[in-house]
Amino acid sequence: EAKSVGRNVIRFHDPHIQSILAKRFRLEIELRQAMERNELTLAYQKQIGRNGECQGVEALLRWKHPERGFISPADFIPIAEHNGLIIPLGRWVLRTACHQLSVWQQEPKTQGLHISVNVSSKQFHQPDFVDVVLKTLQQAGATATGLCLEVTESIVLDDLEDALAKMQALRAHGIRIAMDDFGTGYSSMAYLSRLPFDEVKIDKSFVQRADERANGNEWVIIETIMTMAHKLGMRVVAEGVETQQQHKLLDAMNCDFFQGFYFSRPVDLETLSRALSTEH
Ligand code: C2E
Ligand code: MG
Ligand code: MG
Ligand code: MG
Repeated sequence: EAKSVGRNVIRFHDPHIQSILAKRFRLEIELRQAMERNELTLAYQKQIGRNGECQGVEALLRWKHPERGFISPADFIPIAEHNGLIIPLGRWVLRTACHQLSVWQQEPKTQGLHISVNVSSKQFHQPDFVDVVLKTLQQAGATATGLCLEVTESIVLDDLEDALAKMQALRAHGIRIAMDDFGTGYSSMAYLSRLPFDEVKIDKSFVQRADERANGNEWVIIETIMTMAHKLGMRVVAEGVETQQQHKLLDAMNCDFFQGFYFSRPVDLETLSRALSTEH
């Protein structure tokens, strides 16, 4: 109500904002409990190589809320980054993924699969991040070369020197680093040549806007990113591949890995295991 209070106070009493704040606060409390209550799981999405076979998977966090059902990581990761919960959350993801990697590495049929794990900037810049990753791999009994960490350009914007040092340390142990969501930031291009990425993931927004015409503007951008990354010695992953046509054109551009609904949605471990055992 617009009483004799100041502007900020009126806004605070706005019932709409009040309800957004209340929702966010509740989500924050529930997220804290979610880990203990086993409401979090990982979904896995295949990454397909040039030979058409599954080369590895990206691990994607899923939260199954008991009353409200599935909550998207796009909705709760930013909250977790804001309140610091991303640190224990990120460690749980890493532990779970490394355990799965170790299981795969013990089976001849799956031993070459890699696993890609998303890492938030806040998590990446923790002073003990490299130690945590190495210890987690060791405790799981997994070999480092099977692990790929997906980061975004925000790690560079937050602290370039620290990003570079950590990347070098991780890569010295055989861990790969991918630049996720390439092309969506303001300065991805500037950092690509300055940092030792192993992989570049072309953001799905480019792939999705790329239409049937092989010479459309989006394809020009995609091909340019591809050429540039390859010349820098990096491999390219195309995200959001939904059609055969997109796959065909990306393949003609020598894209190294394909990921998207055309091949597989992110699925639970059981579904993935079943799919892997019927392959080849
Ligand atoms: P991302 O790392 O760029 O992951 C790719 C997103 O694209 C995933 O959304 C995936 O489900 C979706 N996707 C894959 N193929 C297709 C396709 O063909 N079409 C369309 N329309 N979408 C496709 P998801 O799982 O909702 O994750 C959203 C974002 O949340 C991720 O984007 C990542 O930034 C973040 N995230 C997910 N899991 C984690 C995690 O464990 N840690 C951190 N820090 N962030 C995570
Ligand atoms: Mg990713
Ligand atoms: Mg991405
Ligand atoms: Mg993304």
